[in-house]
Parts: sequence; C-alpha cells; structure tokens
Amino acid sequence: MRTDIQRQAKGKISALRDLYACSGTQIGAFMKSAIYPGSFDPVTFGHLDVIRRAAKIFDGLTVSVLNNKLKTPLFSVEERVKILKEAVKDIPNVEVESFSGLLVDYARSRDVHVVIRGLRAITDFEYELQNAQTNAKLSNGGLDTIFLTTSLEYAYLSSSSVKEIASFHGDISMCVPEFVAELVYQKYGLEKK
Ligand code: ADP
Repeated sequence: MRTDIQRQAKGKISALRDLYACSGTQIGAFMKSAIYPGSFDPVTFGHLDVIRRAAKIFDGLTVSVLNNKLKTPLFSVEERVKILKEAVKDIPNVEVESFSGLLVDYARSRDVHVVIRGLRAITDFEYELQNAQTNAKLSNGGLDTIFLTTSLEYAYLSSSSVKEIASFHGDISMCVPEFVAELVYQKYGLEKK
C-alpha cells in the first residue's frame, strides 16, 4: 500500500514530466527562426550585439528593415539593407531583408512566430510592451516577442544619437563599424574623423 508521501512524490514527478514535455515542444517549435525588425538607421554595435546573441539562440534569424513611410530616414531602405548585409556577413544563419506594412502580416507570410526586440532601459519598456501585446492580439497569439536586454557597454547607444553626434562631426567610432561611420559622415557631407 502506498504512503501519502509516495503518492505526493509520484504526482510531483508526473507534473514535472508534463512541464518538461510541454516546454520541450514549445521550445522546439519556436527556436527555429525569428525576425528582428527595426529601423536600423543606421545599424549600431547595440543592434549587432542583439543580432549575434539571437543568432546563437535561433536556427535562423531574419533582420528585417521596416519601410516606415512615417519616418524620414537618413539612409534609404535599400541602403540600410546593404549596410546590414555587410555588417552581418560573418554570421552564417542571419539574413537581411526589408518589409512594409504590419509586422504580423509579414511574420505570417514568412511562417515565423517569434519577434526579437532589444531593451535598453525602462524608457524602452513601455513602448515595447505595448507593441508586443498589440502584435500578440493582432496575430491571435501567433506572434510572440522575446526581449534581449542590452549588453551594458551598449546601453547608451541609439541610432538617433549616432546621427546627432555625426552631424556635428563628433566621433562615432565607438558606436558603429568603421565602414558605417564613413557612410554616415558622407550623408552629412563630412570627412571621416
Ligand atoms: P525601431 O525604430 O523599430 O525602434 P531601432 O532600429 O531603433 O528600430 O531598434 C530596433 C530594436 O533594437 C529595438 O527593439 C531597440 O530597442 C533595439 N535596440 C536599439 N539600440 C539598442 C542597443 N544599444 N542595445 C540593445 N537593443 C537596442
């Protein structure tokens, strides 16, 4: 005859087995591929850090440049895609493309169920949370967002600060790869520092 303790232990083991099986299935299904969408105007070391880390977690990562008609970018979508392709050319499981319209429609068309976003500070959080929840709702739960927190050395970095510093001919070498810095200065009619 079983004691209460034996019965409880059996229950716990079976619950753990269910949990393991469940997370195993989900991880298997979700870790195949992800999309990292953004403006990338221009790509910074902060973005590249997120890309490298996400590429280690997922079998395939698509970095997707949003063609946002509401913003006036420094670089055209085509230029940003070209720059990103060059910047990630050493990471084999990363591809770069552009998209316009709703992220949920784009993700559905690619049969991808995970979006990667980066979080730098509390200020990012509210905006990102709202976007993630909106996308989950619009996709009927078919699109989840996974956040990678910024590495400390890149926490201060943003594309807009890179542009602002460069426009005053400040040094952006600690923010973007050398070839990107050159292209940014060119846009402002300036020589590379
Ligand atoms: P968007 O206009 O969609 O915010 P960005 O190109 O500015 O596009 O950023 C794309 C994503 O990368 C966002 O999730 C943003 O929070 C994240 N990101 C930007 N800079 C950094 C950084 N320095 N460290 C980590 N994540 C970052």
